[in-house]
Amino acid sequence: MAEFDLIARLTARAGARGDVALGIGDDAALLEVPAGEQLVACCDALNEGVHFLPGTDPADIGWKALAVNLSDLAAMGARPAWALLSLTLPRADAGFVDAFMRGFSALADAAGVALVGGDTTSGPLSICVTALGCVPRGQALTRAGARPGDAVFVSGTLGDASAALEHLLAAGSGGTAGSRGDDGCLAILLERMRRPTPRIALGQALRGRASAAIDVSDGLLADLAHIARASGVGIELDADALPASEALLARCDPAARLRLQATGGDDYELAFTLPALHSAPSPPPVGERAGVRGAFAAVTRIGRVVPGEGVRLLDVSGAEIEFARGGWEHFTQGAR
Ligand code: ADP
Ligand code: MG
Repeated sequence: MAEFDLIARLTARAGARGDVALGIGDDAALLEVPAGEQLVACCDALNEGVHFLPGTDPADIGWKALAVNLSDLAAMGARPAWALLSLTLPRADAGFVDAFMRGFSALADAAGVALVGGDTTSGPLSICVTALGCVPRGQALTRAGARPGDAVFVSGTLGDASAALEHLLAAGSGGTAGSRGDDGCLAILLERMRRPTPRIALGQALRGRASAAIDVSDGLLADLAHIARASGVGIELDADALPASEALLARCDPAARLRLQATGGDDYELAFTLPALHSAPSPPPVGERAGVRGAFAAVTRIGRVVPGEGVRLLDVSGAEIEFARGGWEHFTQGAR
């Protein structure tokens, strides 16, 4: 199979939008950004053996390659619109491409995203998606606006995907110590790892409310540290307040659960800060209909912004809980 046959298989499922003046087939795409809006652009790569295990279902890879990028757009408060796909394949494998596009376009269609271009090359399996969206001028959420007195929130639940990954790695090396519970719970955690839900509607609902926002991809403590640094503030989190799914509660003992919630990666939830105006006395009117297809994502208040620097996780007595690592980092750890 030649490069152009592969491209034809990819582009058969590209999706359509009225604001694509020129899509796949020319040297570049022409896209219409609405007057008064800014273009929001991000790009995330997935590499085999680093971001997904060898043997992962190509449909799950396709979903996740887009999901991690739509999560970044969500964290900016953007409306997703277009994507570019750079695909590096070891072989011209039509079966892989078809399955990949099944997962990719399931999410693209649900989120209203059109594939408008890309590149197809040979080499070790690697996928890089560029996602593009729009936001009303000046209204994007950034990491830089948190102020002492703001409350800290997170959407959904934390630690599910990393619990699933730890299970797979432990099963692969012959042991699943520390895990318990039934296979139904495991299936839920695996689904959270394979098919993360970008919180697209929540991100847009936070425009004009949140003072800062980030998506939780490397681990809650590590990601909130970015908000603390960019905003020039400290953050205190209450360990007891971190949201956990029923499945995680059933699978992990409390110590393992807290470590995964605080430092596990791949949650793709939104963490954000709200000025008191928007968070008191009751939780904010956001998150009721979040994610794609209106998927429900509750938001939970997990802490507060304080003067100072850094992120501290506190137990009920106010003592700090520390972990060997705050989150995932490339180049300082082995492949996950
Ligand atoms: P060029 O050589 O000018 O870079 P290509 O032959 O690589 O163009 O691609 C032809 C067309 O197909 C372009 O419009 C490009 O954006 C699109 N395309 C190539 N690979 C992909 C892909 N993986 N996903 C989406 N579109 C693709
Ligand atoms: Mg090319």
